[in-house]
Amino acid sequence: MRDAVGAADRLRTEVATAFGAVVGEAGSPSGRIHVGWWAAVAAAACPAAYRAEGEAGWGFPGWSPATAAGAVARATLDRHLDEAPPGAPLDPLEAVRRWIRTARDTSADGAAGWVAERRDEGDAGALAATAAAASRWLAGFVRVLGWPLPPDLALLNVARGGPAPTTPTWRPPDLPAVSVAAGADARLGRVSGAGRFALVVHRPSGGDDDAVRLRASVEAATGALTRGIAPEAVLVTTGDTGERLRLDVDAAVLAEGAHLLVEAVRQRAAAAERGFDPVDATPSARCRRCEHAEGCPAGQAWLAGPGRWRDGLPALLPLDEHDDVARVGAVL
Ligand code: SF4
Repeated sequence: MRDAVGAADRLRTEVATAFGAVVGEAGSPSGRIHVGWWAAVAAAACPAAYRAEGEAGWGFPGWSPATAAGAVARATLDRHLDEAPPGAPLDPLEAVRRWIRTARDTSADGAAGWVAERRDEGDAGALAATAAAASRWLAGFVRVLGWPLPPDLALLNVARGGPAPTTPTWRPPDLPAVSVAAGADARLGRVSGAGRFALVVHRPSGGDDDAVRLRASVEAATGALTRGIAPEAVLVTTGDTGERLRLDVDAAVLAEGAHLLVEAVRQRAAAAERGFDPVDATPSARCRRCEHAEGCPAGQAWLAGPGRWRDGLPALLPLDEHDDVARVGAVL
């Protein structure tokens, strides 16, 4: 993108103005609002369900094998790159196990602190699940990007020998209660005013392609907002299929990502007045695990219709053995 700094500057101005407008539109004060790709994708998928999540659902769900996998994998890779001779072979599972054994020495915060606590408590199940998920993440990452890694690759969201990494965050100058987080895992190329760098987002397994596109455009926007320089591209890598999807960043991509962030903030601000309201419920495979499905006509219609057969197995409903009508209804 030409004028990567100017594009990021314009985006900051536009997003700050839009955030101010949507927060001002809300009838009640909405408190702190922190959004990133997870909020933008969830609000786009179903605004009604996103508003209804509440504080417990909007924030970080807490460390678990699933949420720690990426952080542990990045920290393991970073240590290997720091300590092993250049190009030394990497055994993902063994390297992750080694990192887990010494997590206590790494940091008392973040994923390292959580892993150290699991070790202190002898929680072998959580540690085994974390090692498996992190080594899968790591094996997929090096599989797609190659080994040795490209020389211009830099890991993001890692902290070498200090406290847990802090996620790059941007706050509009006049709206400190609203913040935006960037979530890319790595960067290819040097950050300079020319904007000749790409952000890398890794996911261990494939899935919804529409959500991938949304995620990439949101990372393009958050990358520009937090750095003040628009990236040239966003690369989404997928471990199990080996895919590398590249989204070249232009003004339209930045606008799309910014729109998704603004909509997430709009729904968060609106939630102070109206939480779950099925008027804008948008059915999808998420209906299967939605806590509000019972009171959602659109979700019920989707679950009862052919849509439920898409995107995985249908939900299994309890059947009364002698209720033939219910049995036929569930099978159809
Ligand atoms: S049941 Fe589906 S459509 Fe209804 S609120 Fe939940 S996710 Fe949205």
